Amino acid sequence: MRRTIRWLALTAAAVLLGAKPNEPAPTYEVYAIRYASIPFKVAGLIAGADTSRRLDIAMTIWLMNGPDGRVVLLDAGFKREDLIQRWKPADYVTPAAALERFGVRREAVTDLIISHVHWDHLDGADLFPNARIWIQKEEYEHHIDSTGKRLANAIDTADATMLHNMKLAGRVNLVDGDAREIIPGITVYIGGKHTFQSQYAGVNTTSGIVVLASDNMYLYENLEKHVPISQTLDAASNLAAQERMTRIAASPRLIVPGHDPAVFVRFPLPGNGVARIR
Ligand SMILES: [Zn+2]
Repeated sequence: MRRTIRWLALTAAAVLLGAKPNEPAPTYEVYAIRYASIPFKVAGLIAGADTSRRLDIAMTIWLMNGPDGRVVLLDAGFKREDLIQRWKPADYVTPAAALERFGVRREAVTDLIISHVHWDHLDGADLFPNARIWIQKEEYEHHIDSTGKRLANAIDTADATMLHNMKLAGRVNLVDGDAREIIPGITVYIGGKHTFQSQYAGVNTTSGIVVLASDNMYLYENLEKHVPISQTLDAASNLAAQERMTRIAASPRLIVPGHDPAVFVRFPLPGNGVARIR
């Protein structure tokens, strides 16, 4: 009897939340797509790392191909000429060109989740004209005022203007908090204070939940040595976020770091700058 009541309560809650009981969550094919490399000091990524270590980090966007034509990106990379001049990326193509090289048109992208406002994750957002943008409300409001002016240095002025204009056009969804299933089968979580309110994504796949960490975990080394990222407003919260990722992901190997070139070694297929995570 008690079990029946509990079941009824859960079913009622599911109906109220709009979920259809017994309907399995849709699964996605998940890909990391590399559009450039930039030489970087490892100490800028891993707190306390030897300052002589260097790494050509992968500049990456993540593609989630779902049912019914749903094409979701996590992060948009960068495309502005002044950023290209300043950072001098190797093997650079625009993130949209990297996507199209893989056979997905930029116009086909239905949703773009922005993990955080840094230039190398946000700047390319307007390359995807039909995408609905998803960003944490607190991340947006911490960095951009109601007139489009930037409020903090973490965001570039031009990117603040771009995102503000997208919001005026009705294309921006502000995500209100942690563990929100914003798209069926895709849930976003508050990250480890890489910026004011960064987020990462858990994606349902046939291999179980894949976690796309973005810069809340720069390299596999963060997780494997249990070391926070260098750039965090709160190292303890960053470690806690990484620990939580291990509970969300179906397996630790399905946690995908934000800039590690080893992703394309561990998941070598289909190749040519694309890694299928499975
Ligand atoms: Zn980054």
